[in-house]
Amino acid sequence: MTSKETRKRFLHFFVDKGHKIVPSAPMVIKDDPTLMFTNAGMNQFKEFFLGNSIAKNTRVVDTQKCLRVSGKHNDLEEVGKDTYHHTMFEMLGNWSFGDYFKPEAIKWSWELLTEVFKIDKDSLYVSVFEGSDDDGLSLDQEAFDLWKTIVPEDRIIMGNKKDNFWEMGDQGPCGPCSEIHVDIRSAEEKAKISGASLVNADHPQVVEIWNLVFMQYNRKADGSLESLPAKHVDTGMGFERLCMVLQGVQSNYDTDVFKPIIREIETITNHKYGKNEKTDIAIRVIADHIRAVSFSIADGQLPSNTGAGYVIRRILRRAIRYGFTFLDTKGPFMYRLVNVLTDSMGEAFPELKEQKQLIENVIKEEEHSFLNTLEQGLVLLDQVIANSQGKEVDGRKAFELYDTYGFPIDLTALILSEKGYSLDEAGFNEAMQEQKNRSKSASEVAKEDWVVLSNDVEQEFVGYDTLEADVRLVKYRKVTSKKQGEQFQLVFNLTPFYAEGGGQVGDKGYLEESNGDVVYIIDTKKENNEIVHFSKSLPKNLNERLKAVVDKKQRQRTEANHTATHLLHQALREILGTHVEQKGSAVHSKYLRFDFSHFSKLTSDELREVENFVNARIDGQLPFEERRNVPMKEAMESGAMALFGEKYGDTVRTVKFGQSIELCGGTHVKNTADIWHFKIRSEGAVAAGIRRIEAITSDAVKDFYTENHQVLTEIKDLLNNAQDPVKSVASLQEENSRLKKEVEQLLKDKAKNLKGELKDELQEVNGVQFLAKKVDLDAAGIKDLSFELGSNMENLFLLFGTEQNGKALLSCYISKNLVAEKELNAGAIVRELGKFIQGGGGGQPFFATAGGKNPAGIEEALSQAKTYIS
Ligand code: ATP
Ligand code: MG
Repeated sequence: MTSKETRKRFLHFFVDKGHKIVPSAPMVIKDDPTLMFTNAGMNQFKEFFLGNSIAKNTRVVDTQKCLRVSGKHNDLEEVGKDTYHHTMFEMLGNWSFGDYFKPEAIKWSWELLTEVFKIDKDSLYVSVFEGSDDDGLSLDQEAFDLWKTIVPEDRIIMGNKKDNFWEMGDQGPCGPCSEIHVDIRSAEEKAKISGASLVNADHPQVVEIWNLVFMQYNRKADGSLESLPAKHVDTGMGFERLCMVLQGVQSNYDTDVFKPIIREIETITNHKYGKNEKTDIAIRVIADHIRAVSFSIADGQLPSNTGAGYVIRRILRRAIRYGFTFLDTKGPFMYRLVNVLTDSMGEAFPELKEQKQLIENVIKEEEHSFLNTLEQGLVLLDQVIANSQGKEVDGRKAFELYDTYGFPIDLTALILSEKGYSLDEAGFNEAMQEQKNRSKSASEVAKEDWVVLSNDVEQEFVGYDTLEADVRLVKYRKVTSKKQGEQFQLVFNLTPFYAEGGGQVGDKGYLEESNGDVVYIIDTKKENNEIVHFSKSLPKNLNERLKAVVDKKQRQRTEANHTATHLLHQALREILGTHVEQKGSAVHSKYLRFDFSHFSKLTSDELREVENFVNARIDGQLPFEERRNVPMKEAMESGAMALFGEKYGDTVRTVKFGQSIELCGGTHVKNTADIWHFKIRSEGAVAAGIRRIEAITSDAVKDFYTENHQVLTEIKDLLNNAQDPVKSVASLQEENSRLKKEVEQLLKDKAKNLKGELKDELQEVNGVQFLAKKVDLDAAGIKDLSFELGSNMENLFLLFGTEQNGKALLSCYISKNLVAEKELNAGAIVRELGKFIQGGGGGQPFFATAGGKNPAGIEEALSQAKTYIS
């Protein structure tokens, strides 16, 4: 069965059981401080498990793009080495939010695998949670009894807490699970060792394909468990592993999901897959990583130096390195795989197809720059080797190469061993651990349990319509981190505070208690779809009504920037073309930043046109037209644009100013006239094919013009109130360059005259043409003069002294024949004489200079000159 067919059958099996198909959430998570990437199907449904929101559909089914490369789930080092772990993979899942529980989940999973997919029952094993003393939990009897009605008891395996108790994090919903494992070994192998003994033993042919999680507890901060009021089902099946089983192959990489990519790698590198374990690993790494990187870019996360972008950069570099080291790739090659990838996955994930060109460009550029790094690293590594004593290279030095220059440690080790050196691995690991500890302790956050004051579940955001509201505290907790110290997180029944999202910053403001006391809100963020307010203290009376007031000034400035961002987006698509897509946006109160796809630098004409376009719409006084709760389909039909990598619900909000219509949850001005004016401050590149514009509006523009006007006034004052300062400056520049030329000519003439005079002053001492004299020339003038005199006579010994800007300079010239015959050395002479001017210097035997801070000593130095030749 093809992979496309497999995906379809899975989804439709559950549709027939009353489930609704929902789209995959983005793989890159944008507005959740607790997670960078989606690492399981359940991430996008966290709010339902936590009870923060109520699900509209209690049964859903989906395939979710997952990435397991950081945090709790990190399979990166396995990938390529084994045949069934990927960085990016699809997780098929069926979900019950407080609806069906263990009986249905278990029965249906078995029905799907054995009746629809027709997997041989004898190759399947299931596991149940055996219980755990730490938590005072016993065997999951219910699951065990259910499985017993389906499979023989010797196929049910008891699983421990590590394998069969699923937890979302240190706190939160959790529960026992039942895994389904499949044994794909040959009958012969099976006869030798029973599959049951290979379950959960990292055997590549006895693998877990499906995990059925039964969420029935909540883990509290003190580690204890409480029962959840509503019980949920969360299942996850590895799509690529399922394809492996259904296509009768022994490795995920032998399925139609990976084969076309592997074929392309073979063509590009001229290495055949399946010939040699080392090159096979490299090919698998590359085939896997191109997916992770491409999907990430399609979701709007480009490789970069921090956060999620850095993780992506490291994945891409890992693949480049494997190519470089094992497949002899010399130049960029990964980008050439994007084509096959979009061919095979573009149908299920259109974001790939539509952004193919961008993905290729970004990857190619990254490859170029990393290959440069590798080259520099190789040079540095040579130096490290040259400086190392003995045959072992210092691990800390290798760590420096890795940390500062991005030079990979496995490559270092490989090169060292090729050159007959070894690496002090302990030293490297120590340095690595120290760094990890440093960044860990800086980012560690201790969260106490929520203190729940009332059971309001869904809170209301009233901040579109008002900046003040009477609110009640629903729950709060204390969080402590090194960076922020002690803070409180507050959740209200309703709130006028906008939580950071869609690029717009969170609101600040205050809470007023009835006695007039004030608690400041320093930030507002969304966590698991809940609006969380941050403060440094708590209100005194927790149960009383509070007046919540948003900082109006900051909000208004932010709104002006947000609306201007929409107009800018429209302007860019209108002026540059519809290939322009939003790739990032930051809306602050002081400025806005907008990243977008476009392939060349904007000319100053284009920038002016963009500014004019936006300002024309500000002048046009376009009213804010908002529609809330519009069905997605209707919104799209009205011409609104959805962004790649954003998660949208069934209904959306549209924001319209004139012809600009966007899906947007942010806050906006009531009329574009409120923006006052729009001004671009800078335009530049962020990555291949991605440009960035920074701009300001409203008060910031006023400040900008005031400052500029102030500077202009000062310039005019300096120019004696010139009417046309530009003309005045231009004529000053002209005059300046004319004067410079005149001065140069005068100095040349002066040197010429001096040369004639000095020639007459030469004395003959012991057959040497000698002169020691103080002159009024700068260092370059003295040098020219000395060499000119020297060019048409022999036996010359010159010592000049000069005073320039309160400093002393000595300069000694000796003809080359004298240097040889009399063993004179100008360098040694100025070093000695330098002591008279309190300085030092040096140079060559025939010409040297010394500088010092005591001009009074020049005469003394000159008077000593004769001693060297007499
Ligand atoms: P394993 O023990 O094999 O790493 P897991 O216990 O980490 O699996 P779960 O977190 O239960 O897996 O994820 C659910 C399903 O997703 C698994 O049964 C498996 O089929 C699939 N899966 C998990 N990790 C990966 C991965 N890195 N690559 C491909 N599929 C995976
Ligand atoms: Mg795992």
